[in-house]
Amino acid sequence: MTQPVLECKNICFSYHNLNGETKALTNISFQVNKGEFMAIVGPSGCGKSTLLSIIAGLLNPESGEILLNEQEQGHIGYMLQQDHLLEWRTIWKNILLGPEINKSLTREKEKLAYKLLSDYGLSKFKDKKPNELSGGMKQRAALIRTMVMEPGLLLLDEPFSALDYQTRLSVSADIGKIIRASGITAILITHDLSEAISLADRVLVLSKRPARIKNDIPVHLTLKDSSPLAARNAPEFQDLFNLLWKDISDEYNGT
Ligand code: ADP
Ligand code: MG
Repeated sequence: MTQPVLECKNICFSYHNLNGETKALTNISFQVNKGEFMAIVGPSGCGKSTLLSIIAGLLNPESGEILLNEQEQGHIGYMLQQDHLLEWRTIWKNILLGPEINKSLTREKEKLAYKLLSDYGLSKFKDKKPNELSGGMKQRAALIRTMVMEPGLLLLDEPFSALDYQTRLSVSADIGKIIRASGITAILITHDLSEAISLADRVLVLSKRPARIKNDIPVHLTLKDSSPLAARNAPEFQDLFNLLWKDISDEYNGT
């Protein structure tokens, strides 16, 4: 049997502040196997980022458990909508920030960083500062910085949302291909249903707040191996899109 990298068991969570309690998650249970690429979709404000923060260990669940495979503990990569690159450092210095802080900057790490820069078409920009790069390039650089840490589990919270549509299509396709080729286990939050279907092996649909799991849909596309953009032309794509669209619309319509 495949070993799960992550298991969420009956996760519940509420925010408490002066205005009272905001219930965000109810009884969320699922597991993610090694090498799986899962997308999470759900209405805006339903609790997606909260769930990711709990998985990352940044928030503690009110009840329930997060079980991480031993090898993955402490090896979580987290990438957000903003690239958070340091403006005064070159791209090269930015992507080696993690190993530098950890005092784990070895020749191997540098080799890996070179390889990733070349895979993402950024070798030429290695000595540039972030403000000399386009939004799409900066987002690629931010992902390289995360990947250099060789995380066992990669968490991506709407990483393409700040990009314009054209850039978003090409950056998400590139990143999707590289994540797939690396075999890394990944969870991607997105509000773009087409992106979820074209990139992920599986889409978890959350209900409106407080989020519960509404659906868990495996994605098998005949064209997946060619590229995430080509996958959008797969015959099954439209049916999956309609299924997800209905799930989410029902939530907004209160059915
Ligand atoms: P999503 O990522 O799905 O858009 P979030 O997980 O960010 O949703 O937020 C879920 C709900 O919890 C939202 O209604 C949001 O307003 C609320 N929320 C998020 N962070 C806090 C906080 N620090 N304090 C109180 N409420 C919060
Ligand atoms: Mg969010």
